[in-house]
Amino acid sequence: MTFDLTGKTVIVVGGAGYIGAHVCKAVADNGGIPVTFDNFSSGHRHAVKWGPSETVDLRDKAATLDAFTKHKSAHAVVHLASSIEVGIGEKDPAGFYENNVVGALNLLEAMRELSLTNLIFSSTCATYGETDQMPLLESQVQNPFSVYGKTKLAIEHMIQSYHKAYGLAYITLRYFNASGADSSGLIGEEHDPETHLIPIALAAAVGLRGKMKIFGTDYDTPDGTCIRDYIHVSDIASAHIYGLEAFANGLTQTEVNIGTGKGVSNLEILKMIETVTGHAVAYDAAPRRDGDLTRLYADPKRAKEVLGFTAEHSNLKNIIQTAWKFHQGVWNIK
Ligand code: UDP
Repeated sequence: MTFDLTGKTVIVVGGAGYIGAHVCKAVADNGGIPVTFDNFSSGHRHAVKWGPSETVDLRDKAATLDAFTKHKSAHAVVHLASSIEVGIGEKDPAGFYENNVVGALNLLEAMRELSLTNLIFSSTCATYGETDQMPLLESQVQNPFSVYGKTKLAIEHMIQSYHKAYGLAYITLRYFNASGADSSGLIGEEHDPETHLIPIALAAAVGLRGKMKIFGTDYDTPDGTCIRDYIHVSDIASAHIYGLEAFANGLTQTEVNIGTGKGVSNLEILKMIETVTGHAVAYDAAPRRDGDLTRLYADPKRAKEVLGFTAEHSNLKNIIQTAWKFHQGVWNIK
């Protein structure tokens, strides 16, 4: 995907995080200037490679307005900063609501104050909740199961209200499972603590941790494990560029799924990791994880119709190969 962003600043809130860093790279690859806003609580300074950064915590309303004021001629804002670990949200809803919902409100208020109108918001398939209707359509009733999903849905609603009352132009991207890494191997998934399946399984494959746990092997799926729609992070990044192009073409409001349409089970992930790395992944069957849904995969048609977006890098082998390349670099292994 190419769209000329020469001379345009895009504020990327959460730009030091996994997806944010890939969005920054995509903005820079298209000639734009990505300005990272991050509190660096989980984002990494070394992941900010393509533009300047501001250290700012969205929970601090005054500091948020100050940071936005410094960059008030920005062309658009991409908002990715949030608490994301489903299991942690179940134990700490207060922290999740404060960081995600209060933080987003402060961001929206700063944008309103400065008349910044173009917002791309990273939402999630976890806003839909348990349903037998697969693939998931955007028109599906949203009834999130996890605290994480509830906070993201609350923000979706806030954004819709700001659109209606104040004319905010927005694109809400409901990501499915971000995975893989930039083909350069320079940036990738680095959470601490890591809770996501692919990096944990790669670490288990090379003996950097003991046996991993597969949470739930009694789900109503062909192999008993959960099913997710893994989309390459470079595809997610390019969805944002499609979004910026759509704003330029006059789009003012949409919600779209960003997924592949294909469901993959946890055990299928482990099998592909064994194929790509040549190492067995030792695991124990463990109880289900709080907040997990049985299966989630997208209907990706609307993203194609509205934004012109389709996933191009998301075959499972490429996802695991690029994740493996990144982690080989981080862990210094051949
Ligand atoms: N999972 C697992 N063991 C782990 C980490 C994750 O079995 O150590 C499972 C998790 O329960 C879910 C799937 O892998 O069924 C994907 O989880 P992840 O946290 O990667 O992404 P999520 O779908 O929660 O956003």
